Amino acid sequence: MSLERALSLDVDEIADVIESVGFECTDCGDCCTSDNEPLAVTVFPDERRRLARAADSSPDEVAEPSPFGGNETFEWTVRRDACGDCFFHRNDACSVYEDRPSVCRTYPFAVRFDDAAGEDTEAERSFELGDATLVVGECEGTGRTVTRKEAVELAREVKKRAVKEEREARAVVEEYERVEPPDGAVVVHDSEGAHVVERDG
Ligand code: SF4
Ligand code: SF4
Repeated sequence: MSLERALSLDVDEIADVIESVGFECTDCGDCCTSDNEPLAVTVFPDERRRLARAADSSPDEVAEPSPFGGNETFEWTVRRDACGDCFFHRNDACSVYEDRPSVCRTYPFAVRFDDAAGEDTEAERSFELGDATLVVGECEGTGRTVTRKEAVELAREVKKRAVKEEREARAVVEEYERVEPPDGAVVVHDSEGAHVVERDG
């Protein structure tokens, strides 16, 4: 059901919210580094391969099982370094900028279907979009001037990501087969099947 809702999202309506919030990335790097919360930048299977090509590495080296899963998870997240920061954050910049995952292209904006716009917190504000919610995460770039053209381009990316998330979620359910991981390993279920990987540390 959410896929249909994602497909019917109105780009102009999303752009209206982005314009009203205002946004210009200051490259502060806060969304690429870990403070107290573990950094969990979601990576789709095709993005995992693209990141691997960009980094001249293997898919298993550029992404890891979500830190929020146990020994079974449904999400890849970008690999983190020893400090918990994104592995690709080098010299205060993204070293794979052209190939960065869609969650990085759209931060701090994201669509949710699972809950209505609720209480705003310091870390998150939410705006109603029909029966969806546009969530705005904590980001020092908000409140800055954005042109209509930039807002529409960003809104298109936000919608694209929402559609992709719903397609991925649907395919994960279709592909799911229970796999028991060996000790010290994790199973990541994605739209391409089950992957058993060693849990670092
Ligand atoms: S937190 Fe906001 S301003 Fe800072 S790098 Fe991320 S998107 Fe840009
Ligand atoms: S891939 Fe690039 S933009 Fe995304 S979290 Fe890592 S350094 Fe930041």
